[in-house]
Order: sequence, then C-alpha cells, then structure tokens
Amino acid sequence: MSGFYKPDRNPRWNYGGENWRLSRSKIGLFQECPRCFYIDNKLGTARPPGFPFNLNSAVDTLLKKEFDIHRAGKTTHPLSKAYGLDAIPFSHAHMDVWRENFKGIEYRHPETGFKVSGAIDDIWVNPAGELIIVDYKSTSKEEKIEALDQEWHSGYKHQMEIYQWLFRQSGFTVSDTGYFVYANAGTDKAAFDGKLEFELTLIPYKGDTSWVEPTLIEIKACLESDALPAPASTCDYCIYRETVGKKLMARYPAKSSAVKRTSRSDNSDTPTLGL
Ligand code: SF4
Repeated sequence: MSGFYKPDRNPRWNYGGENWRLSRSKIGLFQECPRCFYIDNKLGTARPPGFPFNLNSAVDTLLKKEFDIHRAGKTTHPLSKAYGLDAIPFSHAHMDVWRENFKGIEYRHPETGFKVSGAIDDIWVNPAGELIIVDYKSTSKEEKIEALDQEWHSGYKHQMEIYQWLFRQSGFTVSDTGYFVYANAGTDKAAFDGKLEFELTLIPYKGDTSWVEPTLIEIKACLESDALPAPASTCDYCIYRETVGKKLMARYPAKSSAVKRTSRSDNSDTPTLGL
C-alpha cells in the first residue's frame, strides 16, 4: 500500500460524521456508480486516488493568474473579446475561497440537510449583472476544440450545472450559459524546445439544473438505505474484483479465512486477497 492511500477513512469524514460534505465530485461519483459512491461515503473506503495531473494544474494556475489581472483592472480578456462575449472577471471578497479545493462555495440544502459544495475555476459577470460560471480545461488534441459533443463530456456539463445551481441557491443571479476555457497543447512543432504552445478556445454551454434537486433526494435515499446499490454496468473494476476474488477463494479455500494483508517487505507465501 502506498503511504498516501488510507482505505479506512476516519468516520468523522463519512456520511453522518461532522465533517462530511457532498462535494461536486461526489455527486459525479454517484452518477457514475452508486455502489462506489456508497462504499466511499457510507462505508468509508474510497477508490485509490489516481496520479495527480500536474500539467493540467499548472495550466489552471496560470489561467487563474491571467484572468486575475483582468479582474483587478475590470477589463475584458482578449479571449472573451475574440468571441464577442461582453463580460469581465467577477470580483468578490469570497472569490479565493470559492476557488480553493476542499473549501469552495457551500450551501445547506434544506430538504436533505446536506452541505453541498464545489470549487469553481472562475466567475465572470456580464453588463446585466448575471454571473457566468467558467471552467478551465486543458488537453492535447490534433483538432481545434470547439464543442463538447462526446458522451463522456456529460460529466463536464454536470459539473458546470452544479456550480450554477450552487450560486443560484446562494442568492446570485446566474446566466444559464457558462463557458469552458479550453487550452489545447499543440504537437505540430519541429521540437519541444522546453515549451508547450496552447491554443485557447471558448466553448459556451447552456446548463439545465433541473436534475440537481431530484438527484440530491436520490442520494439521500441511497445513503439512508442498508442495501448495497448495484454496480455500474460500464465499469470493469467490479468484474475484475469479483473474478480475482473467486479465483483466489477457489485456489486457496483452506487459507481464505486466515488471509492476511502482506506488505512489500513481507516475503511469506501467504496469498493476499485484499478484496
Ligand atoms: S462498478 Fe466500478 S465504480 Fe462501481 S462499485 Fe464497482 S468498482 Fe466501483
């Protein structure tokens, strides 16, 4: 086990504990697979984290700095001008908190009692005073990125809609249309030369937040139930876990009740189920 992964979370951070919050990413996990969501939030075992996307984080940080210059000057960013969008970065005393991971904007939903939260990348404001939710994305693709039309983009759209919902619930007037600032690293140069060059595009998305409230009610029912939800049909990990578990139980039945967890320094022959 790596030093970073804790398969048994302190119950104070599980559903029912004083620190539990329903973050935007947890709502996304519920939509992806209610079983993994349940095991994570109710039983306290999250999936092992993936490798950190340091290059994407670097792009986000630099974009924030760049838009902050226009926030301070109350000026329109050239990208917005190029797309004919009349908006400037929004100034607010809570902006830094709203943008900070593990803080973000928080709203207590009366029907469920959930503290729902999300950390945004940016907010712009138009001359009518409507807030515009903005999300930064970065990738490297050959074609110019001008639309979010792949099936897997639904997660990005839901993310935007949760932010729109959170800010509306918190009393702000929010435009239905949010924007994705897409930074696409080109690979058509002759050499790396120690730098990546990005093409920025601005992609509008008209959000529909009508699914958020019913989903919160579904999440509440899921968490209050003792029944384990069904796994997602599209995920290969449960098939892997079950198959490996069955094979190991069949091969080592006598030892299965005494299976122990081995560390990398343990050279014994005892099989490790860990399933
Ligand atoms: S199907 Fe995948 S996402 Fe769902 S519980 Fe199994 S491992 Fe987790």
